Amino acid sequence: MPDAGGVAVVVHGLYRGADVAAQGRADLGDDALTVRVEGGRWRPSSFTLPYSAIDGQRLEETRPDERALTLFLGTGDVLDLTGGVELGDFARRLAGAACELPELTLRLRALGSGRANPGSDHDRFFAPLLAARRRAHAAATPEERVAAFDAVELRAGVEGTLAAFAAARCPERAADRRALEAELSELAEELLAAIDAAGVAAAAVRGSAADARFAAWRAWAATIAPIFAAADRWWIAALPALCDPRGPQGRFWRRVLRLGVLAAVALPAALATLGAQAAARQTLRVPAATADSLRALGADVVAARGGAVFVVADSAERARLDAAGVRWERVESVGAAAARLQQEPAAPSVYRSFDDPVRGVAALLDSLARANPRVHLDTLGLTAEGRPLLAAKVGAADDAAGRANVMFMATYHAREWAATEMALRLLRLLADPALADARPPGELPPGTRARVERLTAERDVWVVPVVNPDGYQYTFTGDRLWRKNRRPGANGGAVGVDLNRNHSERWGYDDAGSSGTPTSEVYRGPAPASEPETQAVERFHAEHPPVVGVSYHTFTGLLLYPPGFAAGLLPGDLGVFRALAGTPARPAVLDRVPGSPRDRYHPAPSWNLYPTNGDYTDYAYARHGTVAFTPELTSGFERRADGTEAYYGFEFYDDEARVDRVFLDNLPFALDALDAAGDPLAFRSGTTGLAAERIAIESVAPRLRVRVPAGAAALAELRAGGAAVPFRQDTVAVGRYTRRLVSDSLVRRPSLVTVRAGAVAASFELLAASGAEAGEGGWTASDFADSLTAAPAGVRAWVNVRRGTLRSPVVPVPAAVDTLSVLFWTRYRGDPFAPAPPPERDSTPHGELRVSRDGGLTWTVEGVVRGDAPVFYTEQVTVAGVAGRAVQLEFAALDLPWALDEIAVVAHRGAGDAAPPVAALAVLPSENPVRGARVTFSLPSASAAGLDLRVYDFAGRVVWQTRSFRPAGDRPDELRATWDVGRDVANGVYVVVASGGGRTARQKLFLARDAR
Ligand SMILES: [Zn+2]
Repeated sequence: MPDAGGVAVVVHGLYRGADVAAQGRADLGDDALTVRVEGGRWRPSSFTLPYSAIDGQRLEETRPDERALTLFLGTGDVLDLTGGVELGDFARRLAGAACELPELTLRLRALGSGRANPGSDHDRFFAPLLAARRRAHAAATPEERVAAFDAVELRAGVEGTLAAFAAARCPERAADRRALEAELSELAEELLAAIDAAGVAAAAVRGSAADARFAAWRAWAATIAPIFAAADRWWIAALPALCDPRGPQGRFWRRVLRLGVLAAVALPAALATLGAQAAARQTLRVPAATADSLRALGADVVAARGGAVFVVADSAERARLDAAGVRWERVESVGAAAARLQQEPAAPSVYRSFDDPVRGVAALLDSLARANPRVHLDTLGLTAEGRPLLAAKVGAADDAAGRANVMFMATYHAREWAATEMALRLLRLLADPALADARPPGELPPGTRARVERLTAERDVWVVPVVNPDGYQYTFTGDRLWRKNRRPGANGGAVGVDLNRNHSERWGYDDAGSSGTPTSEVYRGPAPASEPETQAVERFHAEHPPVVGVSYHTFTGLLLYPPGFAAGLLPGDLGVFRALAGTPARPAVLDRVPGSPRDRYHPAPSWNLYPTNGDYTDYAYARHGTVAFTPELTSGFERRADGTEAYYGFEFYDDEARVDRVFLDNLPFALDALDAAGDPLAFRSGTTGLAAERIAIESVAPRLRVRVPAGAAALAELRAGGAAVPFRQDTVAVGRYTRRLVSDSLVRRPSLVTVRAGAVAASFELLAASGAEAGEGGWTASDFADSLTAAPAGVRAWVNVRRGTLRSPVVPVPAAVDTLSVLFWTRYRGDPFAPAPPPERDSTPHGELRVSRDGGLTWTVEGVVRGDAPVFYTEQVTVAGVAGRAVQLEFAALDLPWALDEIAVVAHRGAGDAAPPVAALAVLPSENPVRGARVTFSLPSASAAGLDLRVYDFAGRVVWQTRSFRPAGDRPDELRATWDVGRDVANGVYVVVASGGGRTARQKLFLARDAR
């Protein structure tokens, strides 16, 4: 390899949570500092640090011939570069490069440019700004650039120009002159405020410490573009006043306006149109940037791919990107491209607005309800603009206690049209199961019609196709990429609240998962559930809590479940969520959209994408125990024949075949959601092949963590190596069906863990483990180092930089053991938007757990991690079919900085040899129909813990309830309770619901007593 320039350095420190130790040559490129590695265990061969990630630097002379350059990174990390005296010059060049002045003005001065409005007044007004810009670009150091924009001088210049304009127009009459000057000054308030803000930011640069100098400079640079924008707006706003016939110059301006494109009378309308175009959101492609750095600028990051980040930005946000020196290009939407080819605006053929009286969502739901007796239309509430929040109920008109509620919603975010189409198509199939038979053979699994008929009879199903109808309608009439609702801003400020950040659970938990700034795309609103749409959804949940809830969004190809508010947390019902959504290696939804660069949706806790607070799933799960999901439909990209990828993002194709494919891909998961609602803990998904485990183990060390049925959690028993160990319940991520038990008191890894919880029990035998500590042999690492890091256990963890493998010794599995759990604590910093990894594409950041059952000859991928996990958490991968096999594990990092600790291979010794079989919960009435004055219910005694029995009438009211049971004298395995049916309880149909041990049983009960 030819050796080029740069300076020789040794690099030490932390970058994005990974330890860095390398030596090589550091070089300064256009956008980033690059270290090409020459030795050591660093892989790959170079390491790139974008300038935008560096907040400041400090240079020190450590010896006469040695310098140390400390780089302070925006993440709070620190990198030390050690080298020779030439590092001094390097530091100066780094400051110049990191504080490169962005193009501040070009995109902003459409009307203010010389070509649009020639004339000496124009030149005079803009000249001081343009001169400052020229000086700044010519300056060599950041300090000189700041000095080039002297706020005091600029303010004086503007004020002097305005006075001169007034004087030129009204040379004789002082009163007129003062009136005109006051008018022009009033219009200039925004401009003068922008200049003052730049002055304040310049002072901050001068006063900043070395470790934040670059950051302060970037903040200053961001104040410059608004000056030009305000100057531009002043020029437009002041034109009528400058054309005032009171002076000789007025005639000139009237002539300009009359001859030009903008006739004087049409001027306000033309300006309004231009303003609307400038404000409209556009999708931008930003090459050579990171999602984190753009999010730090407040950008609405929606995807990342192929080294570019995609953001949605209005004109102000585009100006902010310009000011920060971010280069971007416009992405033409699919719809715009089609319209351009046809030379006429294309009305969508598949998608429908809310209000359209013929095709609109409201009209469609209305006609569906009129034509189909199985569809009943309801209104959850009204929006700020008075639109109804329409909900369609499928099946029986009433809401019965004996039928589990399931809720499907779509389009919290206005621009996500494909989500509404998904909900509408699902509604039509549920309303008319015969549609399943009308499909070509093979398109749906056999028996779909009968399954839909059964599920709609046994469940109370609700579909809300548009949660945000005001915003949704606005995407058809005003702004295709609008996201929030249309709540008017206070005092004429920013419009709209992000409804999926406005729910009352963990509302405003932090500013990473939502924003308190009204202009933000993730503005959480002024108070928890402040919005009428959010209130309506919460009111519905309080009155009819769904057992399962699905909230459709687009895009990215994800199946998200709670929690989202904090990284590293797993729901108490992880097994229930995983049974439905699947695991990353075996997900519930496959992506078969033609040309999609993904082959599957990635199931994960919401924080694995990025933190969110106040979202629907966290609310519904924490407050109502609803097993709630956010599917993010479609990948956002299509791979063309030439191998390149076309971005469509929120603007999924207006194409019946493709939209229908999305529906078919997501239908199995939707039907599973309906199915599971009968008994989520007992449900086994035919799509994923998974069911929630009665007892699951998450970790053996440094903390023992297991999940057990909720009703038995208080009475559970944990043993490590035969001795009982104390434990506590996880109170942060509390499950409805299962609870997490945590024991903090183990001093070393137990070789055998036994869990007993009511009627169920299981034991787990430790077959192999590694915590990367000294003296633990047998594991072979290639580019995985047993690095000193903030490990959850001991002082070391396995850490890699981007690529590498870690292989276990061969583990002989006893013949009596067929299933293993591979447990590990892990942390990784990946790109949450990166595509899922089909086997033939290993270039996207992810980690694989590969398993060999034949001592290392052949391997299969059994576990996958991807997305972003900034803190250590526990992963568990089930490996079956291993009885008597020689098992070996390999962790492979594929472009993923990945840390692993406390890897444990545990054998499932099974519940059978430690406990009696699980007793199914059932309610047996002494007679049915009930003809006497009382009825006795028998239940299995194995479900004693937390047992609760209720009788509901058909309107859903509880008419009787008990928690006290007596043992049955004749049957030791039964408990009994007797209901003395009062005379005021009418004859008719009732539903008995028993719950206990995390299980639920239902029984219809008929009262048919004599009328006497
Ligand atoms: Zn969304």
